[in-house]
Amino acid sequence: MQRKTVQREAIQEVFRNSEHPLRLEDILAQGRLLVPTLNRATVYRNLKLLVEIGWLAQVQHPSLGTIYERADLAHHHHFHCNSCDRIYELPGCVLNAAATPEGFIVQEHEIFLSGLCPACVQPAP
Ligand SMILES: [Zn+2]
Ligand SMILES: [Zn+2]
Repeated sequence: MQRKTVQREAIQEVFRNSEHPLRLEDILAQGRLLVPTLNRATVYRNLKLLVEIGWLAQVQHPSLGTIYERADLAHHHHFHCNSCDRIYELPGCVLNAAATPEGFIVQEHEIFLSGLCPACVQPAP
């Protein structure tokens, strides 16, 4: 019981320390720095549980597969850097009702952007 709690705590700590949405691989790698015995099945089980209790949100990315992020974030979109492979949250939204023909009511949308992040555009000094 104790061990299970430690592992879940480690996964939550990974998200508290990260400003980026994470893939299972990222969570596993970063979680192992905290709890070296962490394995894929445990991480997967705990992610599922954290989604169920509403602490994490699960997003299906068209090219990266499932990504996870804190559930308490305001509406935002995702940017994937093709160079460093990081996923960024882009706050805010440029889409508005004007993008929709009359008669349509938009209830949700997803936008996935990809390209180069600022760190990759600017070569290190
Ligand atoms: Zn980058
Ligand atoms: Zn939006």
